[in-house]
Amino acid sequence: MRVLLVGSGGREHALATCLARSPHLTTLYAAPGNPGMAAHATLVPIKADDVQALVAFAKSENIDLIVPGPEAPLVVGLADACVAAGIPCAGPSQAAAQLEGSKAFTKDVADAAGIPTAAWERFEDEAAALAYVQRKGAPIVVKADGLAAGKGVVVAQSVNEAEEAIKKLGMPLVIEDCLVGREVSLFAFCSDDDAVLIGAARDHKRLGDGDTGPNTGGMGAIAPPPAFDRAAQEHALDLTVRPMLREMTRRGTPFRGVIFAGLMLTETGPSLIEYNVRFGDPEAQALLIRLESDLLPVLAALAEGKLDNAEARFTDEASISLVLAADGYPDAPKKGGAIRGIENAESVEGVSVFHAGTALENGALVANGGRVLTISARAATAEEARKHAYEAADKIEWSDKIFRTDIGL
Ligand code: ATP
Repeated sequence: MRVLLVGSGGREHALATCLARSPHLTTLYAAPGNPGMAAHATLVPIKADDVQALVAFAKSENIDLIVPGPEAPLVVGLADACVAAGIPCAGPSQAAAQLEGSKAFTKDVADAAGIPTAAWERFEDEAAALAYVQRKGAPIVVKADGLAAGKGVVVAQSVNEAEEAIKKLGMPLVIEDCLVGREVSLFAFCSDDDAVLIGAARDHKRLGDGDTGPNTGGMGAIAPPPAFDRAAQEHALDLTVRPMLREMTRRGTPFRGVIFAGLMLTETGPSLIEYNVRFGDPEAQALLIRLESDLLPVLAALAEGKLDNAEARFTDEASISLVLAADGYPDAPKKGGAIRGIENAESVEGVSVFHAGTALENGALVANGGRVLTISARAATAEEARKHAYEAADKIEWSDKIFRTDIGL
């Protein structure tokens, strides 16, 4: 098969590594890709959200399958353009990608499907929103909704804080009850009514140790989260993903792609916080290094709506992803620093190093972004995986590297 992989992060490098192992692969392209992916794929200088150029390239190169990594191309209709051009795409339509784009849409689907989720209401009027939080009390969660929602979520500990959040975030808003528990991320390959479990992870979004400092794209992840084994994951899939798939099919907008369900494990069971319509980064790297079976047939099957006899087999190991970022990340990451020692790092047992924000300058590898590398490790136990990842991180020679020291502790 001739495959076009879309994206340029560590997640896409991990996908490329899996795809490259497939006996069904004849040619792999990556748009735009990164220097690490160049070992497996021919890089094509097309931006990940340039749908027209991606589809034109896929047509001219007789691509059999497009594999989108990030959400950006999906939200602007890559899968729809692929369908129109007759090219299978392993990602959801624009209509189904609303599960990531709109909080109110997701809550509405969850309610219609009977999925456990925090009680909520949507507001377009500030006075009504203020009255609601005064009546409900705190803690309470205020979320921006709609197109430019971005990162607008405030878990307010007091009514006062909730009122301030309402004024700051503006309308429209979703306000929901505060869930208490441990958060986990659940991943599955999905197609129409079928879901095949990938696994679960716990991510670390804050820049600093002890979950302090600014929010980032993700500084690390462990898989699986403690006390959330495969049986619990399957149970959560039944509760929080399969009913959504049936509801999306019923609405005439079936979901095909990788679902990422953000869950709170509450006293009464898993409760849905959000969906994303693609793999997480760096969760993907931690999950995919444990994939034993062939990735390509699963992605091809889900793109065709024939996931029912596809298999995804993972080792029983524990794994970890540790992000090496550039000093100054997330505000002003230092660029241009030379990076050495990747082979050394990969000589540590069970370790893979994935590129994200790297570039080649006169043949030498340099930093060229915020999150620059992911070190992922797998081992029989979480402690061992953690030890190996940190050992490998120390072998990367790069003067601007920063990373958390408490991932997996
Ligand atoms: P991100 O993509 O970074 O996860 P987002 O803008 O999509 O953020 P959500 O995932 O809905 O927003 O919420 C962000 C975080 O806020 C969650 O990961 C969780 O920690 C917290 N949160 C959201 N909803 C609730 C809730 N109902 N109860 C408790 N915490 C919540």
